[in-house]
Amino acid sequence: MERIVIGRTGLEVYRLGFGGIPIQRVSETQAVETVLHAIHLGVDFIDTSRAYTTSERRIGLALKQTDKKVILASKSHSKTADGARADLEVSLKELQRDYIDLYQCHFVKDETDYRKVISPGGALESLKKAKEEGLIGHIGITSHSLDVLDRSLDDELFDTIMVCFSFVEPLAREKVIPRAISKNVGMIAMKPFSGGVIEKAGLALKYALSQPGIVVIAGVEQKDLFKENWKVFQEGQPLTPEEKKEIEEIQKRYEKVFCRRCDYCQPCAEEIPIQVVLGIRSMVKRMGEGILQKGRHREAIDKARSCTACEVCKDRCPYQLPIPDLIEENLRWVDEQLKSSGSLSN
Ligand code: SF4
Ligand code: SF4
Repeated sequence: MERIVIGRTGLEVYRLGFGGIPIQRVSETQAVETVLHAIHLGVDFIDTSRAYTTSERRIGLALKQTDKKVILASKSHSKTADGARADLEVSLKELQRDYIDLYQCHFVKDETDYRKVISPGGALESLKKAKEEGLIGHIGITSHSLDVLDRSLDDELFDTIMVCFSFVEPLAREKVIPRAISKNVGMIAMKPFSGGVIEKAGLALKYALSQPGIVVIAGVEQKDLFKENWKVFQEGQPLTPEEKKEIEEIQKRYEKVFCRRCDYCQPCAEEIPIQVVLGIRSMVKRMGEGILQKGRHREAIDKARSCTACEVCKDRCPYQLPIPDLIEENLRWVDEQLKSSGSLSN
């Protein structure tokens, strides 16, 4: 099984890590069991976030039950120094640790967010202080925007970069990954299954792992699913010609429906967070139906109901996605879910 040093952090881990999103949607017992099982199989890199509700606490509980050494990564959504510091303190408490190996500025959406993070009073300032205090080992950045990550590589302020990477979202292969590797910035690939859009997990993992120089984090909530993922990693087989053909077919199928979360379609006159609405099915798959009841996903859905089908966004989308149609289709799907859970009357 291949190991890798995560760029300038010097941290050495297996190339397949554990992602902490899906364990939020199962019982605490199942979540802890899944994490422990992954560690038992050999996982030595776990990534989570303050934003993943119960995830940090559950990982902390699992780590209490094992002596195995695990490299831990977490993140803060906050763009301000005070907010990131407050998040870090909660992360340490939830994970039951006095040190986190890698702490990341989470979901730095665009240039405005990025500037906030790196400016005086921004999240980076307090994370640097936390590093001096010995609370964290290294500082990373995560974003769905390749432009933001590319820009962060110019500034060389972060030790690691976390990027979306899968065969329906392969652009980082050209744009960010090679530059990061040449600058010795650690590359962590998230969403190898594109948030559950790719149903063939084995194929998706093989593709992601076929890219050298990156750690791939795969999130699952069931022991057996992780076992299957780990087997793919253990076997270390390259993609066969048949599998490459299958990937091309799936890529074609998703070309005009899969939202790459780049936000080039913004701004929308109705302030609809388009990417959130287009990604709602995979978010429900990963986080559970509760997100349709309240919180930012519910707010996005409520806003989407005011879509005027003006098509301004459609003209801006580099992938020519039929955005108003996709919004309508997703709203229909949401209503079906709400109806079957009794939250929407007929
Ligand atoms: S079509 Fe709908 S989502 Fe797109 S810009 Fe117009 S109102 Fe916004
Ligand atoms: S709809 Fe198109 S432009 Fe908007 S975030 Fe998705 S892929 Fe990007």
